[in-house]
Amino acid sequence: MGCWFVWHLFQISNFQLETVLKIKALKGFKDIIPGEVELWQYLEKVAREVFDRFNFREIRLPILEETELFARSIGEATDIVEKEMYTFVDKKITMRPEATASLLRAYIEHGLYVQKPVQRLFTIGPMFRHERPQKGRLRQFHQMDIEVLGSENPRVDSELMAMGAMLFDELGIAVSLELNSLGCPECRPGYRAELLSYINERYDSLCSDCRRRSSTNPLRVLDCKVPSCREQIVDAPSLLDHLCGQCREHFGQVQDGLQQLGVAYRLNKFMVRGLDYYCRTTFEFITTELGAQGAVAAGGRYDGLIENLGGPKNSPGIGFAMGMERLVLLLQQQEKSSVEEDKVDLFVAGIGEQGSRAGFGLAHQLRAKKFSVAMDYEGRSLKSQMKQADKARARFVLIIGDAELSSGKGVLRNMITKEEQQDIPLSAAAIAECIPGK
Ligand SMILES: [Zn+2]
Ligand SMILES: [Zn+2]
Repeated sequence: MGCWFVWHLFQISNFQLETVLKIKALKGFKDIIPGEVELWQYLEKVAREVFDRFNFREIRLPILEETELFARSIGEATDIVEKEMYTFVDKKITMRPEATASLLRAYIEHGLYVQKPVQRLFTIGPMFRHERPQKGRLRQFHQMDIEVLGSENPRVDSELMAMGAMLFDELGIAVSLELNSLGCPECRPGYRAELLSYINERYDSLCSDCRRRSSTNPLRVLDCKVPSCREQIVDAPSLLDHLCGQCREHFGQVQDGLQQLGVAYRLNKFMVRGLDYYCRTTFEFITTELGAQGAVAAGGRYDGLIENLGGPKNSPGIGFAMGMERLVLLLQQQEKSSVEEDKVDLFVAGIGEQGSRAGFGLAHQLRAKKFSVAMDYEGRSLKSQMKQADKARARFVLIIGDAELSSGKGVLRNMITKEEQQDIPLSAAAIAECIPGK
């Protein structure tokens, strides 16, 4: 009986141990740990600086929205809404798969168009799609999303792409810009009918996805990645030959603007974007530096969407989203030297209980003076503390032992020159004066 009890206890504790060890992050979800997070911070910092130059303001949005918002904006027949959304079992709430719909919802809900007719907004954060995880593509991924709401001026389109190009240039990421126009509700239906008859002539040679798309969203056949489908569509009619007068003029002015701002681009009639709401200008920034060709940013115009979501009539909009995971991979490949590494101004090495106690107080006072300060909390030897200071890349070390306490002066060592060492009064003001650069 007693034996059984002990054995049973052992089993329980063993079981608990295993359970604790086995919990890992969900498939497709990833921690961004110190050592990686610096590149994320760098990316965001550069992006925020560029957005600021172009007068964009930040908006922070919730992750959960009513499912209806995405069904109505992204479109019921899209892969995202059909297969990839994280929707709660009651079907009414979904974790956002992208940011544009939420941003427009907020724009309408707060009447931002009343305050200012043209709003320039950006948001940064996680998005969620239930996709098969692969390199650089996760179920929780991160995007920077930039939108201009309330203007259909083609200069806005050109400038938005020019801003993207400027950002990639400053990040040192080589991209090429591909451009297309998807027309408008006036000119697209005629094109769609022509494309459909072209597709139907080749129906039997298309993949099963394309056969399905031919009835729901035939334009998507144009960007199928299956090689046999690509062969079939190579001579497909181009929307650019079917634009109505207004769309043609708008698209011409967009290209003029790009030329004026010195932004190189290439027309790509096969680029249709996956989402239903796009019209007129659509674009992608493409990289070839991650193995296969892939987009690092993509977007376009959605002139009817704000009205469709219950916003004011005739309110145009354009925007694009950048995938941060891919950008971070590209930054990693550069081994960016400009990213600031973790560095502390001062390491306080207290020896013995009294030295540690004095160091503990001084560290706090110096942090209040905006110095970054590290210290040892475990009563380790001076030698071990000096190793910790090296690891923390401390610029200075302050040593406080019994002798220093009785003289009222600590030893300050310059860890960069490794030679200079001086006695300084144990006051935060005196120490602050001896640590240059602050
Ligand atoms: Zn048109
Ligand atoms: Zn296909």
